[in-house]
Amino acid sequence: MFVAESQLQAAPALEYQNHYPFPLIPLGYAYSALEPYIDTKTMELHHDRHLKTYVDNLNAALAPYPEFHDWSLELLLTQNDVLPDAIQTAVRNNAGGVYNHNFFFSQLGKSPLKQGSILRSDIEQTFGSFANFKDAFTKAALRVFGSGYAWLSSDKLGSMQISTTANQSNPLELGLQPLFTIDVWEHAYYLKHYNVRADYVADFFKLSV
Ligand code: MN
Repeated sequence: MFVAESQLQAAPALEYQNHYPFPLIPLGYAYSALEPYIDTKTMELHHDRHLKTYVDNLNAALAPYPEFHDWSLELLLTQNDVLPDAIQTAVRNNAGGVYNHNFFFSQLGKSPLKQGSILRSDIEQTFGSFANFKDAFTKAALRVFGSGYAWLSSDKLGSMQISTTANQSNPLELGLQPLFTIDVWEHAYYLKHYNVRADYVADFFKLSV
């Protein structure tokens, strides 16, 4: 339906300031929206405390350096070595924390792997089947030792690959474009799934398709 499509395209996208001072971007859905797969309390703590801490620490690190106040999260991560030595580590960790959580929370509200979606079609083409992708992505998520993420990314030629990162690192730092991710820090699942990351990953997939 052409009218509906043009209305969609005309609708203003929600835009948030992508430079200092970085905002705590709202979830865009209720804390309870992901029940029963991710519980309300986990979402409250994950967004309002964990993400907020990364936002606050990033802004605090950048506050004394106005020359970097127009830098985006992407620039702070990919050009991190241009920053003063004194803030490189703090900015890498906290800009990563902000970028990764914004990406993860936004994705959780969208079911990006639903039948017929562009991403799902591309995945099926790359991995042969959605089941193959799910298996490989799950294995990646389970092999992250300690805290980190599993990612589906595309390289500069558009080829998809699955990878993992430790702590708050992310694929942008490796020249890759993130397409899909799971946060496997224990704070993402411990209240509901305790130490059983495999149960969390299975529930995460029920939300994402
Ligand atoms: Mn997290």
